[in-house]
Formats: sequence, structure tokens, C-alpha cells
Amino acid sequence: MPRTIDTAGVRAAALAMLMLAAAGGTVSGQEFAGREKLRAQSDEFRRDVIRMTDGVYVAVGYSASNVTLIQGDRGAIIVDTASDPVEARAVRAAFGNRLDAPVRAIIYTHGHPDHTGGAAVFAGHDNPDIYSHQLLVEGPPDIARGMRDGGDQFGMTLPDSLYINAGIQLQYGRVTPPTREGYVRPTRTFSGDELSLTIAGVRLQLLHAPGETRENIAVWLPDQRVLMAGDDIYRAFPNLYPIRGGRLRPPEPWIASLERMLALGAEHLVPGHTRPITGAANVRAALTAYRDGIQSVLDQTLAGMRKGERPDELVEHVKLPPPLADHPYLQELYGSVAWSVRAIYADRLGWFDGNATHLFPLTERERAAKIVALAGGADQVLARARDALAAREFQWAAELADYALAVDSGLGDAQKVKARALTELGERQSNANARNYYLSSAQYLLRGLPPQ
Ligand SMILES: [Zn+2]
Repeated sequence: MPRTIDTAGVRAAALAMLMLAAAGGTVSGQEFAGREKLRAQSDEFRRDVIRMTDGVYVAVGYSASNVTLIQGDRGAIIVDTASDPVEARAVRAAFGNRLDAPVRAIIYTHGHPDHTGGAAVFAGHDNPDIYSHQLLVEGPPDIARGMRDGGDQFGMTLPDSLYINAGIQLQYGRVTPPTREGYVRPTRTFSGDELSLTIAGVRLQLLHAPGETRENIAVWLPDQRVLMAGDDIYRAFPNLYPIRGGRLRPPEPWIASLERMLALGAEHLVPGHTRPITGAANVRAALTAYRDGIQSVLDQTLAGMRKGERPDELVEHVKLPPPLADHPYLQELYGSVAWSVRAIYADRLGWFDGNATHLFPLTERERAAKIVALAGGADQVLARARDALAAREFQWAAELADYALAVDSGLGDAQKVKARALTELGERQSNANARNYYLSSAQYLLRGLPPQ
């Protein structure tokens, strides 16, 4: 064989490959486009203290959620407080002398721990009033604690090599374990629709705006035209249903809250997570897309339900229509359209999908034993599962492995096949909650721990 090398040809081929890769045109580029999309979202979380207008600053990227400083004549107001005292101290240091003590008031937009866990750091010895809606301190918590490990959607136990981000935050609970030691109970709550205040010479309105949580309030500064929306909007499809466990976040009040915020005509919008928006037209565009996105999914789901469609049928066709599907605030990096559809169905009609076969189904174990026997035994099922992996049918591979595991949960080969299938599924996801949950479950299987 002559050892001549067509260097020009090699260079041309390499250049073509590079161009394809740059355009996302390679097979692997397309296959992992979701992962790269999620990776690009991390840019939202670069650390920054952003000046919205005179006296209003937002700390982004120091904690899971945003912290806003409103500096008045005779003291400061803090809206949301970071996840824990460690991160709150980092935010306070980043504000530096923009924060002129004392802190007169702390406002919780809602009760989630990543917004309320650092209050003690900002309160210090200033004894500020702590404001929230009354619903924050009464009624059942949003989180069904102790029923499902909520850490997996955040990838709390994933090794760094597998972790990208948590969709609307760089991380929650990975650097410092979740703690409530920095939480301070609200001292001033209101039950109605609205509370008008003047604190440190700053006029504020607290508007009850249920969305991701029922107690969410939007904080409106009418003079500066700045709106802090809490978790009613962030740069990702809304998390209408949390896979860590919880009820549907009701779409209708969420839509009404977005309408209410649109009517304010804000010049600046500070979401609970991801970077703030400036410019009335940009604020209006984001709020409008968010409202229309939720409305569209709700309308399509209800229309299908009226035709008798079951959840598995609904998720086949309920999608965001163009141009909403391409809107940067509606990418499914955190919430998911399909999960929302299933939750809306369950909320309206309950668990039963209308198929009489499902009224009293076989147990998982009974069904699996019959399927495995039908296939010629667990070895055959696993062989087909490996075929499915090779054919990149990863969901089918996981389902086949589940049949084997339902019969014998200690079957090591089945655990490995399932772990591989879940890893492949996770690596192709753009949704952070799905990725983190897939990969966490795979890690548990590989370590021989019971899956969640
Ligand atoms: Zn939040």
C-alpha cells in the first residue's frame, strides 16, 4: 500500500465535519442537541449584580433564586433571600455598599425554600418586618415532604461529571445541603388581593398573583415601574406539575396573574429565576408568551378530554404551536408540556383513564411474570432489551428491563440494562428535571440502591 496521504482531501473532509458540527448537522450533534440546549441555559446563571434602575439591584447566579435590593432613603428592602445563609452572605457581599443599612423590610414572593432560606442574613440585628401573603403561613405546604425524594429532579447526588444545571437555576442543594436555619417567619401578612406600602420612602404594591405557588405575590414599584414576579415567570416552560411530587399548579389563576401583571405596563421585570428583562416591549412579549403558552396547553388538553382522549393519547398531539414553540421563555428546560397535560387530566378526571381494563389491573408483578413467560423467559427479555439499546430504542429498553425487574428486582443484568437506558435517555434530554431524575435513578441502579 502506498503511504501517500491526500492531505488536501483530509483537510477538506475535516473542514466539512467542522462546518457540520458547527451547524449542529452531525448525527451526534442532532442526537444530543437537547443536552447542548440545556448546557446553553447555564449562561442565565452567571453571577451578576444587575442595576434595574436607581436604587434597584438584582443579584443573579449567587443562589438558586434571584435576590432584589431596593434601596430607599432611610434603609433597604430585600425581595427574596436566597436558599441558605451561605449563599445569602455571598449575595449581601456582592451588593456591597449598594445596600445601605438598616434593612427595613424583607418580602417573600412565596414560600419555596430557595427564596426564603437566607432571610436571617439580611435581617441581621435590624429587626425588619417580614412580609408575605397569609397563604404562606397557613394551609398545607406545596411540597409533599417525605413522600418522594425531591432531590433527584435537582440532581443533588449526581457526580459533577454528569451534572449540567437545574433548568432555572445553576444548582439547588448540591453545594450546601438544604437547610431552614436561615428562615425567618413572616411578621406581616395580608389576606386580600393587594397591599400598598411605603417603606424607607419607597412606594410598593404587593399583588396576590398565584402561579407556581398559590401564595405567590408580585412586588410592583409604581414609581420605578419595576415588577418582581416571583415564580410566575422564568426563562423556561412553567413547571405546572413538579415531578418531585405535588399537585397541578392550577393554570387558570396562573393565567389571570399574568394578565394582571401585563396590565401594569412594567418597564422592568425581575423573575424569581433567570435574568431580568428590561424594556416595556420585551416585558410585554415575555408575559404574553407565557400566558398564551399556558392557555394553549390547557385549551388543547380540555378539548381532547371532551373527545374522550386518554392521557397517553393527549400527550401525542398536545404541543405548543408555532411561534410559541420557539419562544425563549417556553422552552421545556424546566417544566414539560406532556407532564402538564397529564396533570391537568388527573386534576379534572382523577387517575382513571376511562379504559375499563384499567379499573382493576393486574399487579405489576403478575403482568411482568406473564409477559416474561410469553417472551420465553427473563434471558430472552433482556436479550431483546439489549437489542433495543443497540437500536437506540432506549424507552423500550427501559420498559423491557422493568418487566424483568418486576419479576426479580435483584437481577443485576436487568439493573445494568435499565441504568444504561436511563442514562441514554437522560443524555438526550433538554429538560433539566428529566435529565437529573433519569441520571440519578441510573446511578442508584448502578450502586445497587433501590430506585426512587
Ligand atoms: Zn423559585
